[in-house]
Amino acid sequence: MPSQLRSPLLPGSAIGVLGSGQLGRMFAMAARRMGYRVHTLSPDEDTPTGQVADLEINSCYEDLDRIKEFASGVSVVTFEFENVPAATAAAAAECAPVRPSGQVLHTTQHRLREKTFLAQSHFPVTPFRRVGGLEELAQAADELGLPAILKTADFGYDGKGQFRIRNPEEFSEAWNAIGRREAVLEAFIDFECEISVIGARSIDGEFVHYGPVENRHRNGILDISVAPACVPENVAREAVEIAHAVLDKLEVTGVLCVEFFVARDGRLLINELAPRPHNSGHFSFDANVTSQFEQQLRAVCLLPFGSAVQHTPAAMVNLLGDLWSEGEPDWHAALSVSDVKLHLYGKSQARPGRKMGHLTALAPTTEQALQDAQRAREQLRRSAD
Ligand code: AMP
Repeated sequence: MPSQLRSPLLPGSAIGVLGSGQLGRMFAMAARRMGYRVHTLSPDEDTPTGQVADLEINSCYEDLDRIKEFASGVSVVTFEFENVPAATAAAAAECAPVRPSGQVLHTTQHRLREKTFLAQSHFPVTPFRRVGGLEELAQAADELGLPAILKTADFGYDGKGQFRIRNPEEFSEAWNAIGRREAVLEAFIDFECEISVIGARSIDGEFVHYGPVENRHRNGILDISVAPACVPENVAREAVEIAHAVLDKLEVTGVLCVEFFVARDGRLLINELAPRPHNSGHFSFDANVTSQFEQQLRAVCLLPFGSAVQHTPAAMVNLLGDLWSEGEPDWHAALSVSDVKLHLYGKSQARPGRKMGHLTALAPTTEQALQDAQRAREQLRRSAD
């Protein structure tokens, strides 16, 4: 690698972010606090990231000339959204370093590629089969057993593009429901809990981590994260070791989240990877010496990592658009829980299931933090009465 590509990018440099949602927004906040400039590109306008960036470019990801122009105006390109096409990452890489690399994106943006990579690298992964049609679905279900979950191979997130199959009569409905496209059938895991480990890796292989964090989902969408997770020490250690090995194997320069199922017998199975800061790490903004977002900045700018130590037990609850169904939530009431921090993403349209913001509670114990976060969220809802 040419030596200038190994030089740290110091404050004052411009960072390019592909994607413009809340992850980019919190990244931009961390970056601007440290004196960096942030440019963001996505097909949308007045975006969560754009509202706090120095420059918001409105373009589709397929306009490779615009992508090159965008990358030429910054010192490094990163992303907050893994469904950026491979050709986009490649075009950007002609003009600026892309961190993590387009190769990491390519592997992790497609369930089948991701799971195949994990299985071939001998990481523990939920049993799965590729499904290209109804016959293959029946065959896969025969091999894995039912219930099982059919998931689209690409563009799936927050439980979208998924169908839980309980019996063979549902094969056809499931195949239609996911749009009759390449898919993965996964064994249904009757898990004890779900955890995640967010790791950050430097270009030289230095590693820091957040986790494990315990995650509870509702309708396939993350609802609550509790940090640190209450799991046996050996499970916690193994989860961190696996996450470390995954980041090494993918040679990530940046942040990547590994989501796990903890099976009833204590076994860990990887559910999925996200090559960017993750919703389950939002607590780190308030509860850690260095947040996951600042760590991403430090990694892509080739700067030393800050301490990832968590100074206070924390719980985070997501605020979905459903909370707005009866009008504006009661912010005043929620903020009367004094150890709770409010984060809103600046989205003007509140749709059901859309992530609008989150609350993080900090307390002497995770139990207390969880109670406080949930109580504050309840207070928001009361306004609807
Ligand atoms: P995903 O978008 O694949 O992460 O799925 C969203 C959520 O659905 C997960 O966090 C789990 O709560 C649940 N889920 C997904 N796959 C499985 C599975 N194979 N077994 C049990 N629950 C699952």
